[in-house]
Amino acid sequence: MTQPRTLGTASAAGIAVDNPATGEVIGQVADSTAEQVEAAVARARRAQPGWAQLTPRDRAKLFTRARHWLLDHCQEVVDSIVAENGKPAEDAIVEVVYCVSAFAYWAKQGPRLLATTKVRSLSPFVLGRGMFTRRVPRGVVGVIGPWNNPLINSFGDAIPALAAGNAVVLKPSEYTPLTALLMVRMVRECGWPEDVFQVVTGAGTTGQALVDTADFVMFTGSTKTGRAVAARAGERLIPCSLELGGKDALIVLADADIERAVNVALHGALVNGGQMCTSVERVYVEEAVYDDFVSRLEKRFGELTQTRPAGLGSTDVGAMTFPPQLSTVAEHVEDATDRGARVLAGGNPGPWPGRFFEPTLLVDVDHTMTCMREETFGPTLPVMKVADAAEAVRLTNDSQYGLQAAIVSSNTARARRLAEQLEVGCVTINDVQTNYMALGLPMGGWKESGLGSRHGAEGILKYTKPQAIFVNRFPMRRDLNMLPFDPSSYRFLLRLVNALYGKRWPFGKN
Ligand code: NDP
Repeated sequence: MTQPRTLGTASAAGIAVDNPATGEVIGQVADSTAEQVEAAVARARRAQPGWAQLTPRDRAKLFTRARHWLLDHCQEVVDSIVAENGKPAEDAIVEVVYCVSAFAYWAKQGPRLLATTKVRSLSPFVLGRGMFTRRVPRGVVGVIGPWNNPLINSFGDAIPALAAGNAVVLKPSEYTPLTALLMVRMVRECGWPEDVFQVVTGAGTTGQALVDTADFVMFTGSTKTGRAVAARAGERLIPCSLELGGKDALIVLADADIERAVNVALHGALVNGGQMCTSVERVYVEEAVYDDFVSRLEKRFGELTQTRPAGLGSTDVGAMTFPPQLSTVAEHVEDATDRGARVLAGGNPGPWPGRFFEPTLLVDVDHTMTCMREETFGPTLPVMKVADAAEAVRLTNDSQYGLQAAIVSSNTARARRLAEQLEVGCVTINDVQTNYMALGLPMGGWKESGLGSRHGAEGILKYTKPQAIFVNRFPMRRDLNMLPFDPSSYRFLLRLVNALYGKRWPFGKN
């Protein structure tokens, strides 16, 4: 690398950001203190009521401007993502596409999902009452994001929070803060109200300070940090939504189109250099098609390119963004080979001077190996032969994680039945990761992969608190149950309950 330094270490000058594909320092950002975070949240709190009072139509207009800005500045945003993350331009384009479509989706669906609803009840005890549920913004939402997707897993989560009438303070990863800062420029140039969206750059302590001050925390990152965030949110009694790590499995059934299965495995494991929470991190293949699947996959691994990402078509697999991740990946491969796995492709650090790891295909793996149990978060793919679908289901569920899983089969009805046996938040059938673009479909992990959901109705409702309104439209001077107690009223009440819900007819007949 051209400039050795300790990445992510704060100094008086702030935090240096490097290009993982070259090692060059490409920017410097502030390491915001707790006081600075507190001040940003205070400004957001002042700006929020005005934002919430805008009509959905007015907010939608500002979203449209931002959408157009993103498309007009697509190249600049893609370049920023590529430079700070080390991913291919194609992977970065997907991030822009997601945010553009998210602006359109939440502007349109938000008002419908957040509209005040009338509640109907058949209970005789609330006869004549009007009942309504309205959704109230939480106030200031703190969004904390990881480094693997500098745009979608941080700014992308701010979009529904803003659509719901909240102000947002975003803390991007200290390794990839530059694209988030571009979003600050975007909202300014689009004429958004001051302080409705802000970014505080900094390290983990900056994130902690945001959890200490926000009204709701939307966190994406590792399970370890997620636990710390949840514990602190619990102390403050504020809600949080957690999108955490994963160990997603792919099940290839004997009746699968093997070419499709190979493409699903290759893309699922290696897109974004395998640094996706939803990466395929292990494959279970039914015995009958195992040899065919593995030999085709091996050939395809050998055809992949890996070099410094430049424009479109420059590379298939990019760099490792987070420096320690390179050692984690190497350790998982070494542990697997020590225990008897074979490396069919890759297995070593990739081209100098960046932080690369070769696309690596492992076979003869089992569940004693860390590569089958712990999140690797890199361009590796362990493939295991299984006797049948039941064994694949059992092994898929043998994990502390429960984010996503995929099944490839030509019998989609059978695949759906198997999907219902999997302990994960989403199962894609003959597909991989595309569900992230389905904003109407919940996306969230089970088990240690998270709490809450980022898409679907819950993806915006979580940014609001429900307020119930209960209206007695025809009030009598005094209800029967009111003080002072009248025993005959309560006798009548008991008879009524018996009549409605009891076994016996209380008025003489059975
Ligand atoms: P981390 O948990 O290390 O960090 C996530 C964010 O939290 C960063 O901005 C980090 O700051 C910040 N942070 C660190 N400590 C604290 C703290 N005590 N309180 C508040 N914030 C803190 O995750 P990574 O950045 O390493 O991201 C990789 C992980 O993210 C993987 O496990 C991956 O699976 C998961 N992920 C999950 C997704 C999902 O949707 N389920 C999507 C994408 C990734 P800093 O970086 O400056 O230290």
